[in-house]
Order: sequence, then structure tokens, then C-alpha cells
Amino acid sequence: MTAAFGTALLGALRALLPRACPGCGAQLGPHAGLCPACRAALRPYVQDHSPLRAQPEPHLVTLGPYSGVRRRAVRELKFAQARDLARILGETLATGVPAAWDVQAVIPVPLHPTRQRQRGFNQAELIGRALAGALAVPCVPALTRTRVTAQQARQHGAQREDLHGAFRAHEGFLPTGPVLLIDDVLTSGRTAQACQHALLQAGAPQVYVAVVAR
Ligand SMILES: [Zn+2]
Repeated sequence: MTAAFGTALLGALRALLPRACPGCGAQLGPHAGLCPACRAALRPYVQDHSPLRAQPEPHLVTLGPYSGVRRRAVRELKFAQARDLARILGETLATGVPAAWDVQAVIPVPLHPTRQRQRGFNQAELIGRALAGALAVPCVPALTRTRVTAQQARQHGAQREDLHGAFRAHEGFLPTGPVLLIDDVLTSGRTAQACQHALLQAGAPQVYVAVVAR
């Protein structure tokens, strides 16, 4: 069974079964993704501090810490393939992106192709498409991974993986204006830093970041 077929089959089954809200466990009923209460609990805000900037300035939009509804929603999205969640998370993040940033494109942090084949989708891309749609800008796959990182490094017992040069940005995909990098979770920030570096090298004038949680 191919990953795509498996994903489609799971999607079909999901639609037929009574579903619990991944945020709180209440029955979802006719609602998709999250119940109205959990949805209302998700509020985007802009942060000035992260490893992505040497000086504090507004550059990161997030729904909050990696806990509660945010943590459960991200885990559900990754492992149970709840694509409705990607739309809710992306559209909610979009409402927090300041117009002054003048974002011209949304760029998802890529999974390594091997991981993407295993999972069948890239959760950052699913969230990114919804985010881009709500901002009325394109979601473009401008970044590629040049080698397997995190997972493999852990398997080989490496304490700290070296992400320098792990991503490449393709100039032809970049708009001339600022871009918004999207990932599901920002932890150490080193993945986003490596992506930001690649985008700036390829000529992006400004890189902002959106993450569901950090
Ligand atoms: Zn709920």
C-alpha cells in the first residue's frame, strides 16, 4: 500500500467514525479538526525574542508554548494525519501575521524526502498551505534538505547535529519581498536558523517565522 493511498484510506475512515477533539477529548460532532472551545483557545501573538535574531524585534508569530491544545494538535497532525487540523492551525496563525511584514510567500521547512515518503506528507507544508491561502500569497517549496538530519543523527548517537548547510534555498522560487518560514514547532531554533540562513543567502530580503508552538 502506498503512503498516499494509506493517507486517503485513513482520511475516509476518519470521516466515517465518531471523532474526539484532539484538544480536549470531547466529541467533535460536525466540527472538523478541533472543537469550538479548543479553537477559541488558540490565539496568535508576535514575539521579539528567539535564536533567530541577534537584537529583539518582532519576527516570530506563534500560538504559544508547546503544551496543552497546541501540543496535542501538533502530535495528532503528525501521527494521526488529521489534515483538518492543519487548516485550523494555518488559518489561525495567519490572523497573527502583521500586515507591516508585507509577506510575499510562505515557505515550509522541508522534511527529508525519505521521511516524507514514510509519513506521506510534510505537516509544515500542510499548515503552510492554509497559512498562505489565508494571507493570499503563494506557498512555495523553496527549501530542500541536502542531507538527513535530526532523526538519523539521534540514531547514530550524535549529541548535537550540525545543521550548517543542511538546507538549500532555490532562488527561482523566491519572491523579491519578505518571506514567512513555517514549521510546526520551534525547539532549539537551529532548524529554523539554518533555513533562515539558506533563504537570506539565496537573496530573501527578510525572513519572518511562524510556528504553531515553541
Ligand atoms: Zn476540544
